[in-house]
Amino acid sequence: MHSYDSNNIFARILRNEIPCKKILETEYALAFEDIKPQAPIHVLVIPKGPFVSIDDFIKGATSKEINHFWHAVGEVARKLKLPESGYRVLTNSGRDAHQEVMHFHVHILGGRSL
Ligand code: AMP
Repeated sequence: MHSYDSNNIFARILRNEIPCKKILETEYALAFEDIKPQAPIHVLVIPKGPFVSIDDFIKGATSKEINHFWHAVGEVARKLKLPESGYRVLTNSGRDAHQEVMHFHVHILGGRSL
Protein backbone atom coordinates (compact mmCIF):
# COMPACT_ATOMS: atom_id res chain seq x y z
CA MET A 1 0.00 0.00 0.00
CA HIS A 2 1.42 3.39 -1.06
CA SER A 3 1.39 6.42 1.18
CA TYR A 4 -0.07 9.53 -0.39
CA ASP A 5 2.35 11.45 -2.62
CA SER A 6 1.28 15.09 -2.76
CA ASN A 7 3.11 15.51 -6.07
CA ASN A 8 0.92 13.05 -7.96
CA ILE A 9 -0.64 14.50 -11.10
CA PHE A 10 -4.16 14.87 -9.69
CA ALA A 11 -2.85 16.66 -6.58
CA ARG A 12 -1.15 19.06 -8.97
CA ILE A 13 -4.39 19.54 -10.91
CA LEU A 14 -6.14 20.32 -7.59
CA ARG A 15 -3.47 22.97 -6.88
CA ASN A 16 -3.96 24.43 -10.39
CA GLU A 17 -0.35 23.62 -11.30
CA ILE A 18 -1.56 21.57 -14.27
CA PRO A 19 -4.61 22.50 -16.37
CA CYS A 20 -7.67 20.33 -16.79
CA LYS A 21 -10.94 20.48 -18.68
CA LYS A 22 -13.21 20.93 -15.70
CA ILE A 23 -16.73 19.51 -15.74
CA LEU A 24 -17.75 20.17 -12.13
CA GLU A 25 -16.17 21.46 -8.94
CA THR A 26 -17.70 21.25 -5.49
CA GLU A 27 -16.33 21.79 -2.00
CA TYR A 28 -15.14 18.17 -1.83
CA ALA A 29 -14.75 16.95 -5.40
CA LEU A 30 -13.45 17.86 -8.84
CA ALA A 31 -14.49 16.31 -12.16
CA PHE A 32 -12.52 16.75 -15.36
CA GLU A 33 -12.04 15.11 -18.73
CA ASP A 34 -9.61 12.21 -19.02
CA ILE A 35 -6.61 13.19 -21.15
CA LYS A 36 -6.73 9.84 -23.01
CA PRO A 37 -10.45 9.17 -23.44
CA GLN A 38 -11.50 5.54 -23.86
CA ALA A 39 -15.05 6.52 -24.86
CA PRO A 40 -16.76 9.63 -26.31
CA ILE A 41 -17.41 10.68 -22.71
CA HIS A 42 -14.63 9.88 -20.26
CA VAL A 43 -14.56 11.94 -17.11
CA LEU A 44 -12.63 11.45 -13.89
CA VAL A 45 -14.06 12.42 -10.52
CA ILE A 46 -11.66 12.88 -7.62
CA PRO A 47 -12.11 13.84 -3.98
CA LYS A 48 -10.16 16.91 -2.90
CA GLY A 49 -8.72 15.09 0.11
CA PRO A 50 -5.44 13.11 -0.03
CA PHE A 51 -6.63 9.53 -0.58
CA VAL A 52 -4.63 6.99 -2.57
CA SER A 53 -7.37 4.52 -3.48
CA ILE A 54 -10.99 3.61 -2.88
CA ASP A 55 -9.92 1.55 0.11
CA ASP A 56 -8.01 4.49 1.57
CA PHE A 57 -10.97 6.80 0.86
CA ILE A 58 -13.57 4.58 2.54
CA LYS A 59 -11.32 4.04 5.55
CA GLY A 60 -10.05 7.59 5.91
CA ALA A 61 -12.63 10.05 4.61
CA THR A 62 -15.44 11.49 6.71
CA SER A 63 -19.04 10.46 6.01
CA LYS A 64 -19.59 13.96 4.69
CA GLU A 65 -16.70 13.67 2.21
CA ILE A 66 -17.91 10.24 1.06
CA ASN A 67 -21.48 11.42 0.71
CA HIS A 68 -20.53 14.56 -1.19
CA PHE A 69 -18.17 12.63 -3.45
CA TRP A 70 -20.82 10.15 -4.63
CA HIS A 71 -23.34 12.94 -5.06
CA ALA A 72 -20.81 14.70 -7.29
CA VAL A 73 -20.46 11.51 -9.37
CA GLY A 74 -24.24 11.49 -9.86
CA GLU A 75 -24.30 15.19 -10.66
CA VAL A 76 -21.61 14.81 -13.33
CA ALA A 77 -23.53 11.96 -14.96
CA ARG A 78 -26.71 14.04 -15.04
CA LYS A 79 -24.84 17.08 -16.34
CA LEU A 80 -23.52 14.98 -19.23
CA LYS A 81 -27.02 13.54 -19.82
CA LEU A 82 -25.78 10.00 -19.24
CA PRO A 83 -28.53 8.43 -17.11
CA GLU A 84 -30.88 7.96 -20.06
CA SER A 85 -28.45 6.17 -22.39
CA GLY A 86 -26.41 4.54 -19.62
CA TYR A 87 -22.82 4.74 -18.47
CA ARG A 88 -20.11 2.93 -16.55
CA VAL A 89 -18.41 4.00 -13.32
CA LEU A 90 -15.18 2.27 -12.39
CA THR A 91 -12.15 2.67 -10.24
CA ASN A 92 -8.77 0.97 -10.46
CA SER A 93 -7.15 0.19 -7.14
CA GLY A 94 -3.61 -1.06 -6.75
CA ARG A 95 -1.24 -3.18 -8.77
CA ASP A 96 -3.52 -5.83 -10.22
CA ALA A 97 -5.93 -3.16 -11.47
CA HIS A 98 -3.01 -1.17 -12.96
CA GLN A 99 -3.84 1.99 -11.05
CA GLU A 100 -1.62 4.66 -12.61
CA VAL A 101 -2.40 7.76 -10.60
CA MET A 102 -2.20 7.32 -6.84
CA HIS A 103 -4.99 9.72 -5.97
CA PHE A 104 -8.40 8.02 -5.70
CA HIS A 105 -10.55 8.62 -8.78
CA VAL A 106 -13.52 7.10 -10.52
CA HIS A 107 -13.85 6.94 -14.28
CA ILE A 108 -17.24 7.79 -15.82
CA LEU A 109 -17.50 6.32 -19.31
CA GLY A 110 -20.32 6.71 -21.77
CA GLY A 111 -21.51 8.08 -25.08
CA ARG A 112 -21.40 4.72 -26.90
CA SER A 113 -22.22 1.09 -26.31
CA LEU A 114 -19.54 -0.17 -23.94
P1 AMP B 1 -5.93 4.76 -13.57
O1 AMP B 1 -5.05 5.27 -12.46
O2 AMP B 1 -5.31 3.60 -14.29
O3 AMP B 1 -7.32 4.46 -13.12
O4 AMP B 1 -6.08 5.88 -14.67
C1 AMP B 1 -5.52 7.14 -14.62
C2 AMP B 1 -6.19 7.95 -15.70
O5 AMP B 1 -5.75 9.29 -15.56
C3 AMP B 1 -5.89 7.50 -17.12
O6 AMP B 1 -7.12 7.22 -17.79
C4 AMP B 1 -5.17 8.71 -17.73
O7 AMP B 1 -5.50 8.91 -19.09
C5 AMP B 1 -5.66 9.85 -16.85
N1 AMP B 1 -4.77 11.00 -16.78
C6 AMP B 1 -3.44 11.00 -16.53
N2 AMP B 1 -2.97 12.26 -16.51
C7 AMP B 1 -4.03 13.07 -16.74
C8 AMP B 1 -4.19 14.49 -16.83
N3 AMP B 1 -3.15 15.33 -16.69
N4 AMP B 1 -5.42 14.97 -17.07
C9 AMP B 1 -6.47 14.14 -17.23
N5 AMP B 1 -6.38 12.80 -17.15
C10 AMP B 1 -5.18 12.27 -16.91
